Formats: sequence, C-alpha cells, structure tokens
Amino acid sequence: MITGAKQVGIRIEAAVKSFGRGQRAVDSLDLDIRAGELLTVLGPSGSGKSTVLSLLAGLAEVDEGRIWFGEQDVTELPPEARKVAVVFQSAVLYPHLTLRESISFAPKLAKTPKDEIDRRVTEAASWLQISALLDRRPHEVSGGERQRAAIAKAVVSRPALLLMDEPFSALDAQLRRALRTQVVRLHQEFSATTVFVTHDQEEALGMGDRVAVMRDGRLEQIAPPLELYRNPVNTWVANFVSLQPLNLIPARYEAGHVSLCDGAVRLAVPDRELPAQFTLGVRSENLRLKPAGEGSLRVLTAEAVGEQVKYTVAAPDGTQLVALGGADRVFSPDAGVELAVDWPRAMVFDPDTGERVGAAAA
Ligand code: ADP
Ligand code: MG
Repeated sequence: MITGAKQVGIRIEAAVKSFGRGQRAVDSLDLDIRAGELLTVLGPSGSGKSTVLSLLAGLAEVDEGRIWFGEQDVTELPPEARKVAVVFQSAVLYPHLTLRESISFAPKLAKTPKDEIDRRVTEAASWLQISALLDRRPHEVSGGERQRAAIAKAVVSRPALLLMDEPFSALDAQLRRALRTQVVRLHQEFSATTVFVTHDQEEALGMGDRVAVMRDGRLEQIAPPLELYRNPVNTWVANFVSLQPLNLIPARYEAGHVSLCDGAVRLAVPDRELPAQFTLGVRSENLRLKPAGEGSLRVLTAEAVGEQVKYTVAAPDGTQLVALGGADRVFSPDAGVELAVDWPRAMVFDPDTGERVGAAAA
C-alpha cells in the first residue's frame, strides 16, 4: 500500500438536493460507502450522479440530510476542510504549468516537505505511466495523458476520499479500458475510499467492488457486480445493467411448464416453482437456439459479435427475442428454431410492479 493513504467510511443520510424550484436532483438518498472500497455509481444521464459527488466534495450543500466521513459530521464543512480530491471529465490542470508543477500544487500549498512531494509525484507518475511527461505542459500531451496527470494530482494530495466523475468519457473505448485497469491497480495500492461515477455499464461492473445504481435521484440497488447482474431488484435495473440485450417476456406457469409468446413456446422447467403469471427476464447469453425445421420461431437476423452470433428471432404473435450463440453453428435468417432457457440464470419479476419475485430467497 502507498504510504500516507488513509481509509475512511462515508455515510450519506436521507440527503435531498434540489436546484431552484426544479425536481429533486437527489431525493432521500441513503448511501453507505465502506472504508477503502472502490464504489462505482452507475445511472443514466440526469440521474443525480454528479450531484452526489458535489455533495460529497462539499461543492454543493444538501437541503436536508447529513454526510458523515467516519465519525465526523462534515455536512457543514467547506471543500478544503474535507480532504477530498475530485477528478472531472476534463482535467483541471494549470495551462502554463508543467504536469509536475500542477501535480505538486496541492501538497506544496499544504506545506508538505519538498522531498516528500518529490517522492509522491515520482511514485504516482510511475503508477500512471506518465514519468517521461512530467516536464511538459497540458497542451503538449494527449487527452488520456492529461486525465492520468489529473489522477496523479488527486492522489498526491493524499485525500481521505477520491471522487471521479466520468473521467474517461471523452476518450476512445480502447484507451478507456486501459485507464480503467490502471485506476483499479492504483486503488489496490493506494486503497483510499474511492467513488467512481459512470454511465457505462461495463466500466461500473468491471471496476467496482460494489456498484450503486441510481435513477431519478434515488438509489435503486447497491451490490457487488455479479450479485447485481444476477439478482437485480427490478426489471429497470436488470435492463440497465445488462451488457447484452435482456429479454423481458410475459409468461405463464402451469404443471411444470412455462408458456411464452401466446402459447407458441412451451418449455419444461425442472426443479423450480414459479408464479402462475410473471415476467420472465432472460439475458441473451442465457437463451440458446436449437434447430427445429417445424419450429414456431423464425430467425430474423444474425449478427457476428466476435466468437458469438447475436440472433433476433420472432414468434407468431410478433414477440421478438434476442439470443446469443456460438460462431461454430450459425442459423441463417428464416431458419426455424426452438428456445432453450438456462433456468438457473432466469429472472422472475412481478408482471405488474416489475419487482423481482423471491428476492429474499436468492
Ligand atoms: P448525472 O450526473 O447523473 O447526469 P446530475 O447530478 O448532473 O446527473 O443532474 C441531476 C439533475 O439535476 C438533472 O435533472 C440536472 O438537470 C439537475 N441539475 C444538476 N446540476 C444543476 C444545476 N447546477 N442547476 C440546475 N439543475 C441542475
Ligand atoms: Mg454527471
């Protein structure tokens, strides 16, 4: 672990924040962030993610509720008293300073001894692979390198809480993946409590120790990535955290069989009791196609996705489903097919409320 790093747990209690007379940007939010964890906050645009970061950083004040850093109530504390560092989408670096000078700025201001600053800068630069760029100015490096410098700048101030607001969203997909891995490694070394905001499912599920899913200023669910993926609390979360298309299909259950698509599909379900009527949630990776000349489903499209093929299939009642298959056995458009559901991975939702059925038992 990098020396000098501190770990603190954070608690947001019943926080409310509105702007002007508008709708609540954050609405009765309770959020526990564990000491030393990397929490990703995932939500669509406008769901209140940046507002949560502003409240944590002290850049905005709550209308109601409290914020705790460990045992300390920081609700009324200004940003500079909170030991927080923020990395935004575009790096806030000083244009006329070299990266080294920008990165050293905060610890210098805090009167940290020079050799200690040099040690921290060297260490952070090495971690983020920008050691060779330290004497350049921001306009002399790429966007990805500027973001790394911004992260180094945040880290050398040894914050109790490191906040990142979509820091890679302006960068291309490949670079984003590389930087994601670097942040995870940095967090393993540095171990500061970290909140990473993103609207990208892959980023949130890939990086987070836990993922907090936000919608309309509220917390929908908070869970480790795999638990969130397998046991989403409702159809909205299930759909939002999907890496591949999710099928939500009205279903009936009777005598060990599920019928879908107005009875055109009838499937035996071993070892599972189901409600008489429900919404079946099945991710395309858990839905397989089997050849069936006289099958009631037809392949509409087949798209190559690396080693897999993504199929759209249609039932006689017009229902369209998405299934993934291996590239070694390809169904042509118009082929007749049957479905096979990976039942242990199937999700069962209330057809009216969309809430997951049997959430507690899972
Ligand atoms: P996200 O980061 O998830 O996209 P934000 O926290 O930026 O969401 O915004 C949440 C809601 O609050 C949005 O409806 C947005 O328009 C509103 N909002 C955010 N900041 C301000 C502001 N400074 N003034 C007025 N409305 C704001
Ligand atoms: Mg935002």
